[in-house]
Amino acid sequence: MAPSFDVVVIGSGFGGAVTSCRLSEAGLRVLVLERGRRWSPKTYPRTTGDPWIWDHAHPEKRNGWLDFRLQRGVCVAQGAGVGGGSLIYANVLVEAPRELFESGWPAEISWNELVPYYERVERMMKPRAVPENQVPERLKILRQAAAASGYETRYRPLPLAISFDDEWHYGRDRPFDLAHSRRWINEHGKEQGTCVHCGNCYLGCQVAARNTLDLNYLARAEIMGAEVRPLHIVRTIEPEDGRYRVHYERIDQKRLVAGSVVADRVIVSAGSLGSTELLLRCRDQFGTLPKIGPRLGYRWSANGDFLTVSIQQTPVNPTHGPTINAAVDFLDGGVGGKRFFVEDGGFPDFLRGVIDKELRFDARNLSFSMMVFSLAFALRRSGQFPNMMPWFGQAMDAADGQLYLGRRFLAPWRRRLKLKWNCSASRDTIDAMVAMHGAFAKATGGRALSPLLWKVLKTLITPHPLGGCSMADSPREGVVDHRGQVFGYPNLFVADGSVIPRAIGLNPSKTIAAVSERTATLITTER
Ligand SMILES: Cc1cc2nc3c(=O)[nH]c(=O)nc-3n(C[C@H](O)[C@H](O)[C@H](O)COP(=O)(O)OP(=O)(O)OC[C@H]3O[C@@H](n4cnc5c(N)ncnc54)[C@H](O)[C@@H]3O)c2cc1C
Ligand code: SF4
Repeated sequence: MAPSFDVVVIGSGFGGAVTSCRLSEAGLRVLVLERGRRWSPKTYPRTTGDPWIWDHAHPEKRNGWLDFRLQRGVCVAQGAGVGGGSLIYANVLVEAPRELFESGWPAEISWNELVPYYERVERMMKPRAVPENQVPERLKILRQAAAASGYETRYRPLPLAISFDDEWHYGRDRPFDLAHSRRWINEHGKEQGTCVHCGNCYLGCQVAARNTLDLNYLARAEIMGAEVRPLHIVRTIEPEDGRYRVHYERIDQKRLVAGSVVADRVIVSAGSLGSTELLLRCRDQFGTLPKIGPRLGYRWSANGDFLTVSIQQTPVNPTHGPTINAAVDFLDGGVGGKRFFVEDGGFPDFLRGVIDKELRFDARNLSFSMMVFSLAFALRRSGQFPNMMPWFGQAMDAADGQLYLGRRFLAPWRRRLKLKWNCSASRDTIDAMVAMHGAFAKATGGRALSPLLWKVLKTLITPHPLGGCSMADSPREGVVDHRGQVFGYPNLFVADGSVIPRAIGLNPSKTIAAVSERTATLITTER
């Protein structure tokens, strides 16, 4: 007989870590099934032969750090591993603007309703702004751009889930030396260090200065008795005698081994693409959850993510400091009526070497090749990497994408997740953000390079996919109710970015975590 749990949580990113922690604190027997590895500073990929890529076709062979999915019009980047997107993310933990909740959400969800849940996330993740005595050059350029353009009141440093040492500064002897990191033990018994501004946040922090989910929410869940199984890919969910059976494949010595578990409740937290794909397969491919409504896959958003590169006249050193540090906020629509958020951005030094020397043009992956070549072109043309300024941004795009499974006449295992995405309704907003990037570059004596991927192919790259299983008041409008419970399936919940029904317009993880805190609270109180 398959083992039985009170709750099975699928995925261990922001939704999965929060719910598994809170439900195990409430005394429930929780099992977390996570497709990726359990990473640590000893195993993070670092050189070109390391496990970088998650391969959907052959996860038993390639189950690396980054899941990069190419869809028509949008390339989506996601993390894979215990801790989900927190392993790879840029540490920005910021609340959504109040106006976000004025429309598009179920009646029960408002900004005021989420305040206590945002506070819980904050207590766990402990974000703070980069100390003023150690701001990187990129922050100074962004601040200068805002001031020179008359937007200084819109400028603000961002809260980062990083542990800083107030004594550290750029004037130190060999400032980035890992030996400068101070060691400490966090409240969950995990050893961490303080930030030495090495710029490698996307690649995993060698000194564990980033307050990632494996070091807080998941650590707490395990202390409270939750079991976390890495390298378990969930394939289907089916109702069984008032409970749910979850079928998975375990990666074992380059083989996939089938297994299943039964639970009273299931929480799907595989991320916007992962959760939507899993439920689409359950409804349309295997027929195990046929009652899921017609809105599954809809209201998908790329969160208006965009990167522009400029060449400045003075050194920027994009590889120094945390990846993102500050923002200029246009989300009120007060400038030209478009809602967007501009940030400074950075690159790990390692990526420069890979992009510049090792990646080859691949005609089968035109969008990916264009992206890589735009970057490589910028690098080579500038001839001086230190003067490159990456300007990041997010925007309230139209959230009108649709995820679906490819053609039916293909063998079931070959039906791929696809995206219908037409940029026309979001185009003016993205163009306004790109124009602001250009204006900021100019205001600081730089020159923005033309974003070829957008100009030529109208393709976006997003690390912030949202929607697909959106929250709504009824099954005619969405897939889950305000608690995250799937319409028509009691005790089947979704808690992650897929339930967010519209673009947030800034970094989404804090809002995803807050909504998941609320789902967990309602599950435990209703119980
Ligand atoms: C490079 C990068 C930088 C980013 N920077 C920021 C930032 O600074 N601030 C911010 O707010 N956001 C940032 N994000 C976005 C943030 O990481 C995501 O919004 C967030 O992680 C989404 O949380 P989630 O719970 O929806 O999904 P995820 O965190 O993606 O978690 C989903 C988990 O489910 C697992 N999974 C998927 N399918 C299955 C399956 N079938 N079976 C078992 N497990 C499965 C995945 O491996 C993953 O661990 C960044 C993302 C990237 C890629
Ligand atoms: S800059 Fe380096 S030390 Fe600081 S949080 Fe990022 S990876 Fe860690």
